[in-house]
Amino acid sequence: MKAVVFHEHGGLDVLNYEDVPDPAVGPDEVLLRVRATSVNHLDIWVRRGIPGINLPHISGSDVAGIVEEVGERVEHVSPGQRVLANPNLSCGKCEYCLRGEDSLCRDYKILGEQVDGGYGELVKVPGKNAIPLPDHIDFQEAAAAPLVFMTAWRMLISRAELRPGEDVLVLGAGGGVATAAIQIAKLVGARVFATASTQEKLQRAKETGADIGINYQEVEFDKEIKKLTKRRGVDVVLDSVGAATWVRSLKSLAKDGRLVTCGATTGPKPQTDIRYIFWNQLRIIGSTMASTNELLAVLKLLWERKLEPIIHRVMPLQEAAEAQRLLAERQVFGKVVLVPDQELS
Ligand code: ZN
Repeated sequence: MKAVVFHEHGGLDVLNYEDVPDPAVGPDEVLLRVRATSVNHLDIWVRRGIPGINLPHISGSDVAGIVEEVGERVEHVSPGQRVLANPNLSCGKCEYCLRGEDSLCRDYKILGEQVDGGYGELVKVPGKNAIPLPDHIDFQEAAAAPLVFMTAWRMLISRAELRPGEDVLVLGAGGGVATAAIQIAKLVGARVFATASTQEKLQRAKETGADIGINYQEVEFDKEIKKLTKRRGVDVVLDSVGAATWVRSLKSLAKDGRLVTCGATTGPKPQTDIRYIFWNQLRIIGSTMASTNELLAVLKLLWERKLEPIIHRVMPLQEAAEAQRLLAERQVFGKVVLVPDQELS
């Protein structure tokens, strides 16, 4: 099959479009013919180099496609069926898995991170990870959904326990997790503040559901939040930006506020004044990915069209490097979807 592969870690130029052997499926696995995949920041970190990646590697954690072949012990899907891949790869046996907490699994892996993913014509996944796709959902919107919506859902609903009537601040409104979070917060009944670097992105954020946009290039967003909330601050801040925003995120919180973090794209080591945390009784909450239960909960809302994947652009798989560049340089609002070449003709 054709796939986008890297043989060494590095810049965009390590991504090669080349022939690789078709994946061989085991008795509990299914082989999917990829109809669409999407690009995540995770793909960029994995390409640049994080521990535990076997080379050569194929990225791609969001996969929608058609079942090509099933292992002998797989019974719930059959060849020809349209499916979405659950990206959670957990052991199923540890104390966290037994609690239903996939992303806390002691041996947690993500499709496309530690194992080959969807940047190819074919991908294999555990049979139990193949989720049947409703007829009214097309492959591209399906592939734009899982990672960002499951991440945002766990952050806001399970971890920060966002309530109706609360104020939430979502940083970097153009990002995939942020566009999902704005919609989820709105669905909960929260008031949503969103930051972005351009008026165009702020306008898109409002169309996505944000109540109030803040241009962080023009104002200091924490001071603006204090002004807009009559010095109170917001109940929840969703921060995946990291070092560049951390201190301002803490300063944007109301007393007893919650900062929930899922990433650090601008760096992992901000300075924190601990006095500020205990005096204001703030809670700092980590979150990563989501359980399969949480994925299924958010997919139900997507299938009902109460939530909507925001697709910035659909590109051929061969242009994966360009797609990653757009994402890394934050030239997108929402998701970039990749489709194998035969899908475009
Ligand atoms: Zn486990």
